[in-house]
Amino acid sequence: MEPSATTGMDKPAGKKAPLMGVEEAIALVTADASALGVEQVAVALADGRVLAQDLPARRTQPPADMSAMDGYAVRGADIAQTPARLAVIGESAAGRPFAGAVGPNEAVRIFTGAVVPEGADTVVIQENTSRDGEIITTTAPTAALRNVRKKGCDFTAGTPGLMAGRRLTGRDIMLAAAMDHATLPVARRPRVALLQTGDELVLPGQGTGLDSEIVVSNAFGLAALARRAGADVTDLGLVRDDLAAIRAVVAQALSGAFDLVVSSGGASVGDHDLMGPALRAEGVELFVHKIALRPGKPLMFGSKSGVRVLGLPGNPVSSHVCAMVFLVPLLRALQGDSAPGPVTAPARLAVDVPANDVRRDFMRARMDRHADGTVHVTPCASQDSAMLSVLAAADCLLIRPPFAPAAKAGDPCEIIPFDD
Ligand code: AMP
Ligand code: MG
Repeated sequence: MEPSATTGMDKPAGKKAPLMGVEEAIALVTADASALGVEQVAVALADGRVLAQDLPARRTQPPADMSAMDGYAVRGADIAQTPARLAVIGESAAGRPFAGAVGPNEAVRIFTGAVVPEGADTVVIQENTSRDGEIITTTAPTAALRNVRKKGCDFTAGTPGLMAGRRLTGRDIMLAAAMDHATLPVARRPRVALLQTGDELVLPGQGTGLDSEIVVSNAFGLAALARRAGADVTDLGLVRDDLAAIRAVVAQALSGAFDLVVSSGGASVGDHDLMGPALRAEGVELFVHKIALRPGKPLMFGSKSGVRVLGLPGNPVSSHVCAMVFLVPLLRALQGDSAPGPVTAPARLAVDVPANDVRRDFMRARMDRHADGTVHVTPCASQDSAMLSVLAAADCLLIRPPFAPAAKAGDPCEIIPFDD
């Protein structure tokens, strides 16, 4: 988190600092971020957690050659000609294997998931046989080795099945369970404290109806994003635009109970924007940057004694977009996630868009999936950084790179789909 000589950080007041590129800012925020620790969790609770160590299979799957169908286990050579007549000598069911071996012109009745008996290498499905007492006759050809899942074709004991740094899906935890892991080593959750400042802010349902009041919204979106990104979130509530009050809450947040403090509001340079001064007064080594992004304002980032601090803008849409761009990748990096994002996807413009300026634009937009599978994106009519009705109606952010020329409907573009 040390400033580099080239980033233009902490310019003397009065000098216009150059805008920092979004990629450079993400690199600054996520620099040195790695997993905070490892804990074991029950495999059933590991969905969404980040695997902390490579996970080897503890068993081989299938543990033996197994039947993929209901039918008869035979020797492939015996059924090269149709019809073939074979003597049924026993049965192999799932969990109840046949004890003997299959000899020439013999068959064992077998069911899906049952061990293929010694001697047999092929399963003839029951639909391709007719049975008369203990004799079966094949009624259609079956290629040798068909309908048998070979021992170890899925995974073998000792081979890594999932790698460290993977954010586990439901499918991954199925595999982990099948590999015989009752618990999984995962990165511990980053502990995040949220605080919001503003004399105008009131909690939902607790205002008096004054026109000067604003019902607070930011922490609800920030908490949702942070929890989805794997964090344990504590909302420290509202703080007045008062240096002593903000300092008191900041001191509490920095006391060691949290890994990351996320503030919203009070981040600009107005007389009532006291978050920066309060953080500095509490000993946070803080870098303030004007980031070349829209919507957004100066981003504050710093740390004190290993506790990181991220200061987001107060405008609700700005706070949310900046959290998607900076907070979510930081939280993922703090769990050792090998792909912390932001995760983008290719799409096409549904409408013409004008040339962009110096800022990377994250436009609220809606996706439309065409029959050919392509996603066509329309920016919302208003891009006001305070309009929550627009943010809620959007389902993705359309990224317009700095200095992108005017583009036409149908041109390729990049989006960040909302995943909630
Ligand atoms: P600030 O960054 O404090 O200058 O705030 C910028 C704008 O965002 C102001 O209009 C605030 O009322 C609004 N705002 C600040 N914090 C919040 C919040 N937690 N929830 C909703 N709006 C906020
Ligand atoms: Mg304010």
